[in-house]
Amino acid sequence: MSAPASAELHTSSATGELVLEVEGLTTGYGRTVVVRDLSLSVPAGGVTAVLGPNGAGKTTLLRAVCGLLPVSKGRVRLFGEDVTKVAPFQRFARGLCHVPEGRGIFRGLTVRENLKLQAGGRDESRAIELAASAFPILRDRLGQTAGTLSGGQQQMLAMASAYVRNPRLVLVDEASLGLAPIVVDEIFAFLAGLPERGSSILLVDQFAPRALAIASTAYVMRRGEIAFSGTGKELLEGDLFSQYVQGSGSDTT
Ligand code: ATP
Repeated sequence: MSAPASAELHTSSATGELVLEVEGLTTGYGRTVVVRDLSLSVPAGGVTAVLGPNGAGKTTLLRAVCGLLPVSKGRVRLFGEDVTKVAPFQRFARGLCHVPEGRGIFRGLTVRENLKLQAGGRDESRAIELAASAFPILRDRLGQTAGTLSGGQQQMLAMASAYVRNPRLVLVDEASLGLAPIVVDEIFAFLAGLPERGSSILLVDQFAPRALAIASTAYVMRRGEIAFSGTGKELLEGDLFSQYVQGSGSDTT
């Protein structure tokens, strides 16, 4: 990753500050409960990984943190404030950024237009400069319709929002899905560098070894609940990794 253009940085370090606290969260779709009594926290200034088989409820958890799903029990605290009943746009305004599975870009707009939207009223040329400093290929594609980019370039464009908006917490859902290993390397190098700029990361990914390599804290979800929590190193050691993640297959509830 190239050196970023200068930007306002959030202060964050190993201060013990928690940017996200989820307590006893129960949520789902209609009457279907997908996440049950789940608690986790994300410290400031690092990468936290949530791993788990297909259908474990990882995406559902992130949606509830954004406020896109109703919480039937429990609460969500963001940057020290209870936001359980706060609308999604207000959570984003407080410094939350969500890079959803499937990329969350406007496929019919050009790269430049996507970046202008991501800038959300901030200096647009600075936003483009920041995105291009993170992923130089985007500079060559500014006039191209986003839907015609390669999968990797689309993911880079989606990731660029984590730079352009200068968020305090970035939720990343399946960043590596369907991408070539060389592109995955670039995406994870970008993610690993975000904490230095003051953005904490909550990363959901099936590519567990890669996620654990950059994660200071790791959780494993199974059937909507936390089955393990510890350091990334602990999860990689012994048979914990194979027990909880590798070869665990689908976990559709
Ligand atoms: P994956 O890696 O496959 O995305 P996940 O761990 O992110 O898995 P979720 O996508 O949160 O899991 O899905 C958890 C459960 O919720 C699954 O049983 C799924 O079928 C169900 N589910 C997901 N989206 C909906 C929806 N819109 N309506 C009803 N059920 C849903």
